[in-house]
Amino acid sequence: MTTPFRLQSKLPNVGTTIFTVMSKLASDAGAINLSQGFPDFDCDPALIDGVTRHMREGRNQYAPMQGVPALRQAIAAKYELFHGRRYDADTEVTVTSGGTEAIFDAVVAVCGPGDEAIVLEPCYDCYVPAIELSGATPVVVSLTLPDYRLDWDAVRAAVTPRTRLIIINSPHNPSGAILGPADIQELKAVVRGTDIVIISDEVYEHIIFDGAQHQSMARDEQLAERSFIIGSFGKTYHITGWKAGYAVAPSALSAEFRKVHQFVTFSTNTPVQHALAEMMARPEALRELGPFFQAKRDLFLDLMSGSRFRPLPCGGSYFQLMDYSSITDEADADFAVRLTREFGVASIPTSSFLYRSAAPKVLRFCFAKKTETLEAAAERLQKV
Ligand code: GLN
Repeated sequence: MTTPFRLQSKLPNVGTTIFTVMSKLASDAGAINLSQGFPDFDCDPALIDGVTRHMREGRNQYAPMQGVPALRQAIAAKYELFHGRRYDADTEVTVTSGGTEAIFDAVVAVCGPGDEAIVLEPCYDCYVPAIELSGATPVVVSLTLPDYRLDWDAVRAAVTPRTRLIIINSPHNPSGAILGPADIQELKAVVRGTDIVIISDEVYEHIIFDGAQHQSMARDEQLAERSFIIGSFGKTYHITGWKAGYAVAPSALSAEFRKVHQFVTFSTNTPVQHALAEMMARPEALRELGPFFQAKRDLFLDLMSGSRFRPLPCGGSYFQLMDYSSITDEADADFAVRLTREFGVASIPTSSFLYRSAAPKVLRFCFAKKTETLEAAAERLQKV
């Protein structure tokens, strides 16, 4: 059908997300899909039993807008246990339909026309569009390659009286870089005495390796009091398709957040929330996640050793960056397509997370996969 007028696009530079594009290409080409970040193994069967039981018991109508109380209490208890910070389950914890919804709600709740919002590129692909839809101006600061360190001089230089928001992400997608204690001190110095709100995308919080401590904003009073912390049950419990996440933030920030959330999705899937609340009674499962994925990272690195791909450091998340500069000069997006079609392994080009920097010759591979998937993928990649 043709529309009888031209609609002015609010996101003129946005197409379909790279995750959808690469997963479709992988499926069309019959390739092993190490592109979009999702596990190819099942979640704990207790979760499926739990959802089924709650459905059978009739928990099939709208959940409370803020989230099921038992789940909000379980989230608050987790922050106290892991980070020693008490969030009020009634006023400071909100369940959302995934981390992406929570990021959108937080951005729209705090930003508007005339505001500037700092993002650190490469950054997850929903940040900048959310800022643009809010009417604010994205201000892009580049991380320092090849270790994706935060250049704090560049962050300081980007702050102006109009800066309303900074979005940070650790463990970092796509690089797997993590913030250290020194970064926390730098961040505190940057925001001290300002009205800057922090959105801290911590969806990979439990997927952290080599004994490192996750530097949650919850661990520091001065950062916690101005932060939205975003979490994702999809990443933590291997259920990305259930689209369940949350935001914790001080009550004044949470109140504004909920005003947006209630008109975006109103509330999140009821039986899933009840099952997750039961699951969270076992925090050991969260502590097992780091070693579990570290073994997968190490297996993938081991299987790839001797190949012409050069791994970059990965301290967390379930993504491994690989430098392919010794293989070809092709741009990352072109090489990712060719690798999928000719060699049968799909990855994500990091240019999809970049706005101003030139893309390095680097691809992102998701290692949240069964051993046999990683073995088959590495066998193909060894032939490149
Ligand atoms: N977070 C996932 C990734 O980085 C993708 C989520 C999505 O497809 N929107 O691969």
